[in-house]
Amino acid sequence: MPPLNILIVGCSIAGPTLATFLLLSPLPASEKPHITILERSPALRVDGQNIDVRGTGVTIIRKLGLEAAVRASTTGEEGVQFVDRDNRIWAAFPADKSGKVSTPTSDIEILRGRLSELLWRRSKLVSEEVQREGGMGIEYIFGDYLDELEQDGEKVHVHFAKGKERRTFDLVVGADGLQSRTRNMVWGAEGERERVKRLGMYGAFFSMPSAKTDSMWRRWFHAPGRRGIMVRPDEQREKTTVFMYVINEKDIRLPAVAEKGREDVKAQKELLKEYFQDAGWESERIIREMIATKDFYYDTVGQVRMDKWSKGRVVLLGDAGYCASPLSGMGTTLALNGAYNLAGALERCLNDHTAAFAEYENKMRPLVDRAQKLAPGMPHMLNPETAWGVWVLNAIMYFFSWSGLISLMFKLGAGPPANAVPVEDYEFKELPEMRV
Ligand SMILES: Cc1cc2nc3c(=O)[nH]c(=O)nc-3n(C[C@H](O)[C@H](O)[C@H](O)COP(=O)(O)OP(=O)(O)OC[C@H]3O[C@@H](n4cnc5c(N)ncnc54)[C@H](O)[C@@H]3O)c2cc1C
Repeated sequence: MPPLNILIVGCSIAGPTLATFLLLSPLPASEKPHITILERSPALRVDGQNIDVRGTGVTIIRKLGLEAAVRASTTGEEGVQFVDRDNRIWAAFPADKSGKVSTPTSDIEILRGRLSELLWRRSKLVSEEVQREGGMGIEYIFGDYLDELEQDGEKVHVHFAKGKERRTFDLVVGADGLQSRTRNMVWGAEGERERVKRLGMYGAFFSMPSAKTDSMWRRWFHAPGRRGIMVRPDEQREKTTVFMYVINEKDIRLPAVAEKGREDVKAQKELLKEYFQDAGWESERIIREMIATKDFYYDTVGQVRMDKWSKGRVVLLGDAGYCASPLSGMGTTLALNGAYNLAGALERCLNDHTAAFAEYENKMRPLVDRAQKLAPGMPHMLNPETAWGVWVLNAIMYFFSWSGLISLMFKLGAGPPANAVPVEDYEFKELPEMRV
């Protein structure tokens, strides 16, 4: 049997993690899969702001030999403060740095671009070693995407839109994020509305130069009209990161500009400016910096809900198959677990992709189901419509913070379910810590 020829679409978090674990199987190098990673962006995307790695996600980072590098790259966030228009702190919830209790600020808070870079470098190093031992390793293709994909039962035939090349693979993995084109092509555009469950929330992540009011705490400001701004530290770059969002199901401009993706960043910025110009607090500064920033990422906040993550020889991984939304704090942990379990299942069922995909699904479903269960009333209850509602929210948070009740709730497991499913041992080759 020749080695499996696998195409992974997307080189962010899930894609390079899967490629690395596939190459860590105990098979001889010449029998390890030949992997192609296809990324639409012309270079590795370094944009995106704070993401969380929790529980089993940290175990997987450790298995990749990246724990030290990741911990050295964290943003250093101390916890979350609720602030009002006058920047008065109503409540403060410190991070649990032991990693044992799930708090809103996780044990590992890192910039998305930094984590993606570390995972990509790790995959390159592992690939080079496999190539030295006589295997095919990984081929990376940046700046292209698929515009055709067909399956005939034996193989998957694809066409690269820019390279104008046709290629054939044994398996295709869609790790291309919330707006996955792979999902769209294989499952059909007509079902996308049901698969991508919008939460009525739209927002942008970007960074800005730090100012005197910024600290090592995340500050979370609520404005009436279900609007919110979070500013968060980034110790590594001495910058402050921003998540600015609106909850509104009626304004069709909000999803319309999201559909344009990076083609119309100007329209996305203009719309957010319109929403926030009267919001108060530090909005004036934040709007000014938003207009100027280059690392801007706007999207719909949504969840991907599907009964099955594979169809024939195509399988979905990470946000493409089961995005839980940034509200869950679990997207990256799910992507890491998914990549690990998919590689493990393909190793165990080497010549039977149907069995492998079923095993992957069995392993991941309980974790995904838990991660997608958002707290009751989210996101509306935590983002009131009126000024009075915002006052009540801050007062409730004050009570939780002052009474210590929230810490008790987190200890009792009210946080994200990152340890809900144990990490199985697939006997992948162990990796030493990567030097940075
Ligand atoms: C630019 C960017 C910024 C982000 N910023 C944040 C943030 O600040 N906070 C947060 O909580 N989450 C953010 N996310 C989402 C977060 O990365 C994911 O929730 C999570 O880490 C799961 O990762 P993933 O690899 O499954 O998907 P993603 O991280 O979404 O990665 C998908 C990858 O596929 C590529 N891609 C998309 N379409 C195609 C195509 N047709 N062909 C080839 N490649 C394609 C994308 O460029 C991207 O590299 C961001 C994602 C991206 C892409």
